[in-house]
Amino acid sequence: MIPVNRPALNGNEIKYVNQALEDGWISDGPFLKKFEDEFSKSVNRDYGISVSNGTAALYVALQALEIGPGDEVILPTHTIISCIMAVLNVGATPVLVDMELDTWNMDCELIESKITKKTKALMAVHIFGHPCDMDKIEEIVAKYNLFLIEDAAEMAGQFYREKPCGSFGHISTFSFYANKVITTGEGGMVLTNNPSLAERCKYIRNLCFNNKRRFVHEELGNNFRMTNIQAAIGCAQLEQKTKFVKHKREIGRIYTEILSSSTIIECQKRNTSYSENIYWVFGILISEKINLEAKELMDLLGESGVGTRPFFWPLHKQPALNKMGFFKNESYPVADSFSLRGLYLPSGTGITFDEVRESAEKLMEILRRFS
Ligand SMILES: *Cc1c(COP(=O)(O)O)cnc(C)c1O
Repeated sequence: MIPVNRPALNGNEIKYVNQALEDGWISDGPFLKKFEDEFSKSVNRDYGISVSNGTAALYVALQALEIGPGDEVILPTHTIISCIMAVLNVGATPVLVDMELDTWNMDCELIESKITKKTKALMAVHIFGHPCDMDKIEEIVAKYNLFLIEDAAEMAGQFYREKPCGSFGHISTFSFYANKVITTGEGGMVLTNNPSLAERCKYIRNLCFNNKRRFVHEELGNNFRMTNIQAAIGCAQLEQKTKFVKHKREIGRIYTEILSSSTIIECQKRNTSYSENIYWVFGILISEKINLEAKELMDLLGESGVGTRPFFWPLHKQPALNKMGFFKNESYPVADSFSLRGLYLPSGTGITFDEVRESAEKLMEILRRFS
């Protein structure tokens, strides 16, 4: 079976982890500061606060911005559950936006129609390796005086024009889960240029311990700390970021070349005027013209030894949220269609080009049966 993801761990990962263990720094330790400093520098941010995962990063970001009950936060419907959990966990109200056909990101043309007097923040989530239209997003944020949270979980090493993803907005977040561009196993980071926001993020990450009297708490936070062992892996991964991005772009090029002869499927765009896709995952979309859903194609690929995953399930269709009364009569037609017809192919940093060619050819073989 060709797995959908295999992380490449062939750099200094083992060496640095051994160093952390030999020195006895297994919780806090020097790799944390090194990873925070080097990662934040790589995305042009003054402060990076490591956390235990990307879900926690979003939660810390919203809590640090003091977003709460009565505030509305706009976000895409086509994203991971983590984004809306952050909004709900601080007691704010989520407001969704459909996706656009061109880059598969949030449709920026629809954002303004969702803005009300209560709108406090916009969460921009870059999807699958191609950034959102940040010029348009920054224009809206400035016009309505909103907070901008940039979820760059899938974007380590990506740029929007000449600016790194993760350098936009009041706060940005990353995930370093095993399938992300660089990984620490589990992990994440919150980044900002604002020193008081950075202090607040550190405070929230660390149970809101304060300097006056330890174990007396003025506010409630969480234990969202990363370990020095994870940061050791992160330092080694960061050294290889450029190589990983190059590898992923080549994966995308090979898939696109082989699959472009099919009229049944569509691939995510390789280029727009502002960015070249880094293919966090290589997604494909089955044409509405044929009677084939992602689920069936995934089963057939599985039988041929090719691992896949479906696209995100839209937030407005999440049973857990519908049960809470959210999004009952709302419609997001593009995301609805994508949720049934989209899947992604093996595309991790440790997937070889031969495995990519084999996956693409097996897919072409299956598609011929339907044309
Ligand atoms: C992976 C991901 C997250 C969550 O990160 P975890 O580390 O898995 O908690 C958040 N947002 C996006 C867009 C992601 O892809």
